[in-house]
Amino acid sequence: MSAGGEPADREKPLPVDAVVFDLGNVLIRWDPVTAVAAAVGAERAAAFLSDEHFDFAAWNATHDAGRPWDESELAAIEAHPHLEDEIRGYRTHFALSLVEEIAGTVEILRELHAAQIPLLALTNWSAETFPVALERFDFLDLFEDIIVSGEEGVAKPDPEIFEILQERIGHLGSLDDCVFIDDSLANVAAAQESGLDAIHFTDPERLRHDLVLRGLPLRESGTLDHR
Ligand SMILES: [Mg+2]
Repeated sequence: MSAGGEPADREKPLPVDAVVFDLGNVLIRWDPVTAVAAAVGAERAAAFLSDEHFDFAAWNATHDAGRPWDESELAAIEAHPHLEDEIRGYRTHFALSLVEEIAGTVEILRELHAAQIPLLALTNWSAETFPVALERFDFLDLFEDIIVSGEEGVAKPDPEIFEILQERIGHLGSLDDCVFIDDSLANVAAAQESGLDAIHFTDPERLRHDLVLRGLPLRESGTLDHR
C-alpha cells in the first residue's frame, strides 16, 4: 500500500460524492439479547431469540419498515401469549440492546468528517426507538443526513429505500459515485443493484483498508495483511 501519508489536497476533487454508512453492527453494536435478558434473564432471552415459532428478526424488521410498536406488540402477544414478558421486555429495555459504539469505525467516521467527505447514514431502525441512539451517540451529529427506514416506511434491502437515498443525496451527486457500507450481505447486494459501490463490513481494519483502496483520505493502519 502506498497511497497514504500525503496531506489531503483541497484542490483535488473528492474521490467519492459521499460515504453512506449503515449503523447497526457497523457503528453501533446491537444485540437484542441484553435487552430481553433484563426482563426475563439470560436463559429465557436466549431461548426467545432462537425460538422456532417466533421469528424475532422478521418481527423486528416490521418495526424497521414503519409498523407501530403498540400494534406489533399486541399482535405478537396475541399469537404467543406465553412470550409476553420477552416481547414487551425488548422495547422496555431497548437502550440495553445498543451495547456500545464500534470504536474503530467511529474513528474512520471522524477522519472522513475531518477531511470534509460528505457523510450520510442509511439505517434500518424503528422511528420510535431511533431517538435512543441520537441521545446517546454524539458521533451521529457528523452525518449531514440520516435516513431512518422506520420514518420512510420502507427498509433495506427493498430497492425503494435506495431511491429515497438518491433523492436525499441528489445535491451531492449520484449513487454511482457513492460508497455504501453495511454488514448485511443482502443489503450490500441490493445497494450494488442500485448503483452504489457497496462494501460488506466485517471489521473496522478491513473497512479502513477498503476505503483507502478507493482513494479516501484515511490514515493507514499498516496492520492488515493483503488478502
Ligand atoms: Mg447493520
